[in-house]
Amino acid sequence: MATGAAGDSFDAVIVGAGFSGLYMLHKLRGMGLSARIYEAGTGVGGTWYWNRYPGARVDIESQEYSYSFSPELDDEWVWSERYATQPELLRYLNHVADRFDLRPDIQLETRVTTAHFDESSNRWTITTDRGECISARYCVMATGCLSVPNDATFPGMETFQGKSWHTNNWPRDGVNFKGQRVAVIGTGSSAIQSIPIIAAEADHVTVFQRTPNFSVPAHNGPVDPVIAADWKANRAQRRKEARETGFGILMVGNNETLALEDSPEARQANYQARWEIGGFALLGGYGDLVVDTQANDTAAEFVRGKIREIVKDPAVAEKLAPKSFPIGSKRLCVDTGYYDTFNRDNVTLVDLREEALEAITPTGVRTTRGSHDVDTIVYAIGFDAMTGALGKVDIRGRGGETLKDEWADGPRTYLGLMVAGFPNLFIVTGPGSPSVLCNMAVAIEQHVEWISDCIGWMGERQMGAIEATTAAQDAWVEHVNEVAAPTIFPLANSWYMGANVPGKPQVFMPYIGGFPVYRDKCNEVAANGYEGFTVSSDAR
Ligand code: NAP
Repeated sequence: MATGAAGDSFDAVIVGAGFSGLYMLHKLRGMGLSARIYEAGTGVGGTWYWNRYPGARVDIESQEYSYSFSPELDDEWVWSERYATQPELLRYLNHVADRFDLRPDIQLETRVTTAHFDESSNRWTITTDRGECISARYCVMATGCLSVPNDATFPGMETFQGKSWHTNNWPRDGVNFKGQRVAVIGTGSSAIQSIPIIAAEADHVTVFQRTPNFSVPAHNGPVDPVIAADWKANRAQRRKEARETGFGILMVGNNETLALEDSPEARQANYQARWEIGGFALLGGYGDLVVDTQANDTAAEFVRGKIREIVKDPAVAEKLAPKSFPIGSKRLCVDTGYYDTFNRDNVTLVDLREEALEAITPTGVRTTRGSHDVDTIVYAIGFDAMTGALGKVDIRGRGGETLKDEWADGPRTYLGLMVAGFPNLFIVTGPGSPSVLCNMAVAIEQHVEWISDCIGWMGERQMGAIEATTAAQDAWVEHVNEVAAPTIFPLANSWYMGANVPGKPQVFMPYIGGFPVYRDKCNEVAANGYEGFTVSSDAR
């Protein structure tokens, strides 16, 4: 592992050693540039380093959720499960770090605390919690979309006498739930993946649900040898096909037919076939599910029907069946045995819409209807998504303006890549880009390649600074909002909207126009000499 010295100077500093940061480092070094990653964790892996809760695994098939930039890497890495587990993903990212000899330029256990742009030199001054001060021409925030825990608090939290854990900051040695009475607060993807596993081990699990979520079965298992062979033979083609789909995911299997044009029987058969495939295939069922609420409700009702079929107690099934938002407007969850877990004798569902959570007490959780005594509390309450990690660093651009102030009413970017007033600062999968609405591996590679091309272009011309214009940024933000408005996405109180974090401005953050449209726009901007950006020569 690298260790920096005060006064280090690089062409680029990269913040974060997850999927984005590792590839960014590889690309920049390949261009002959000096770059260093600063990473808060004790190891590489980002999301897959921190999220070690029981059952954590990817919700996109493994062969698609991986780097495509190196055919050799693709050929030598063999995924063992259809949806890779967190330990397997972490092994993969460690393998990438070793295979491309990235570690000498990664400094672990170091949190970047400030990044200030110096207009006189067109460089960023970056400081860390180790007291280092580093200078870099470019600063690349590879900090992830879901990396800062939602720090919502509950009254009395600090008085609890048992153990408590956040799913997104799980102890490295795991947690032994044997003999424990466990409370799980939250029913998002993290909870839905972990509850069946915790329930199989603990004495009793009480699930505190504020809003039920739609979940579909993963049908996980070993990678299908037919799929593995097909990908081995046609990998480049399959990757290309995935990049031509709206979500950058081949397995969704988009069907452009309109839901209401099919007969109810045909619709049922279509949804059933997709339920049997598992994962996000259900959302590809019809072309209008994300734009027509009536069409969407046919898919939502299909899943509600499944919940009523699986969960034996009709009252519990009704509580688990989401009715307050369209399916897909919150990230669809992909589970293994989630609904069936509520048929176990040792699992209780508490509906917080019927009995509000009043406080955490020394012995457990108190709601308006009474107390639930537990030994352990698992907080599965999500993340300060998309902007959280950027807000943790004191980022100051031109004139000392802070990014926090610039984004006080919600994030504004040009293409989700750069922000007006913050020259030479790049964001990988920032708000305003497809990011979390896309296969993250696809979105990350496209961003890293666009950023490195841009840096290369600047270098060839010996330019000192590139910056989004306010006009281009305003037009892009307007476009992002325009595209989102007629869809189902603004209809949910989701983390896409910032609605899960108290006090966060509510704006729809990702770009829903589809990956191919977005990629073409980015390519066009670059081909037109970085249209919408101002480029200046070095001021020194
Ligand atoms: P999440 O989807 O935001 O879920 C958080 C849960 O906590 C929600 O049920 C939320 O209820 C509840 N909650 C939050 N604050 C609460 C409060 N004050 N009182 C009671 N309940 C509260 O978070 P997540 O499960 O960590 O997942 C976030 C995202 O990470 C996912 O959507 C996905 O993109 C990614 N992820 C992916 C996987 C995977 O399958 N690969 C696994 C985990 C996470 P409300 O809905 O009412 O706000």
